Amino acid sequence: MTASKKTKDCAERALLLVNIGQLLTVRPAAGKPGPRRGPELKELGIIEDGAVLCIGGKIVSVGGTKDALRDPWLKKNRKNVIEIDCEGQVVLPGFVDSHTHPAFVNPRLADFEQRISGATYEDIAEAGGGIRSSLESVRAASRSQLAEKVSDALHEMAEQGTTTVEAKSGYGLTVESELKSLEAIRDAAARWPGTVVPTLLGAHVVPKEFQGRPSRYVELVCEEMIPHAARRKLAKFVDVFCERGAFTIDDTVKIFEAATKHGLSVRGHLCQLSQCELSRLLDFDPASFDHLDYVSNADVAILAQRNTIATLVPGANYFLGQGKYPPARTLIDAGVPVALATDCNPGSSPTSSMPFVMSLACTHMKMSPAEAIAGATINGAWALRLQDRKGSIESGKDADLAVFETEDYREIPYWFASNRCAFAVLNGTLVASGGSGELA
Ligand SMILES: [Zn+2]
Repeated sequence: MTASKKTKDCAERALLLVNIGQLLTVRPAAGKPGPRRGPELKELGIIEDGAVLCIGGKIVSVGGTKDALRDPWLKKNRKNVIEIDCEGQVVLPGFVDSHTHPAFVNPRLADFEQRISGATYEDIAEAGGGIRSSLESVRAASRSQLAEKVSDALHEMAEQGTTTVEAKSGYGLTVESELKSLEAIRDAAARWPGTVVPTLLGAHVVPKEFQGRPSRYVELVCEEMIPHAARRKLAKFVDVFCERGAFTIDDTVKIFEAATKHGLSVRGHLCQLSQCELSRLLDFDPASFDHLDYVSNADVAILAQRNTIATLVPGANYFLGQGKYPPARTLIDAGVPVALATDCNPGSSPTSSMPFVMSLACTHMKMSPAEAIAGATINGAWALRLQDRKGSIESGKDADLAVFETEDYREIPYWFASNRCAFAVLNGTLVASGGSGELA
């Protein structure tokens, strides 16, 4: 049987994982609605010696191994079930990486060296480096070249346990190249067994040809990019980089208005380098506010009452060599729902590893391993409005699982920069770690 035939069978046939040492269901203990906040972020719903049965890409039952094997349906159909003995390993929901920028061509090595020599993120951007230096190669790339790059990133993510990815455009910044980037994301998504959520980030930075007239560029985003992307169903979300040197809060309001008018939901890069008035954006019901390194106390209190997720991306703080990290404890202790994501991008966070981000969250943001796991799964799902399908292991949800070669879930953020993911299940399809591709 060929690998692809086996894979297809695996997605359609029943798949049973047994002898799971710790099965982290990430089910809410009290069955409360809404994203996880405060102490709820630590509730992992662990089943010891667990089992999960998936059929047709969905989870159909979750419980103990003994009970699963006694199930009359399973006894009758066992020959047709693909059974995997997890031998005491840890199984958790596949990671939901709710903030990535995979549609780029080259790594930004000159920026990397300049920063090592003492230049700041903003110095580099002002000198024509940063986001602007990725534009030329993306504009020149063909859609298939770009799709290849996105595919590579998606495969690397799956090998590390990620099964759902939000993917942004944002390195073309012309109507044509932004739409090409979104098409490339769609092409790569079609070839990947996991789930991809596309986001239009036309408002990443003002490109050179619009320098000195940023409002003309905002018009282009609102009047051309958003309507085209919406009409062709190329994006689910519209994102804006709201920051000094990028777009103002007034620009962001205009762009969110255009997105809403065209039926797209919104999210934003906010408060990465400086504070801004988040409350002005809440009328648009944003799915997430991302970064939030400089969030004000007043906005923390407001966010604690909302379902907008605070998505923290400490990979960027790490790679930019900042001593300061996002204030996770302040946010969590105030009741703000927090998620973690890689922000995978060539300038400030070239990593596709959710376990590494979780490790940073533990060591530099004082999140507990349990909080980091909930932030990387169920709250990531909320940040993409996929909480009914993703982020926890419950019957009826998509069969998205990550299996780690560890005995204890706390080892996932503990062994930093080494991949302990044995394999992942993406919508019912198994993908092995270590470059061996899909298996059955
Ligand atoms: Zn980002």
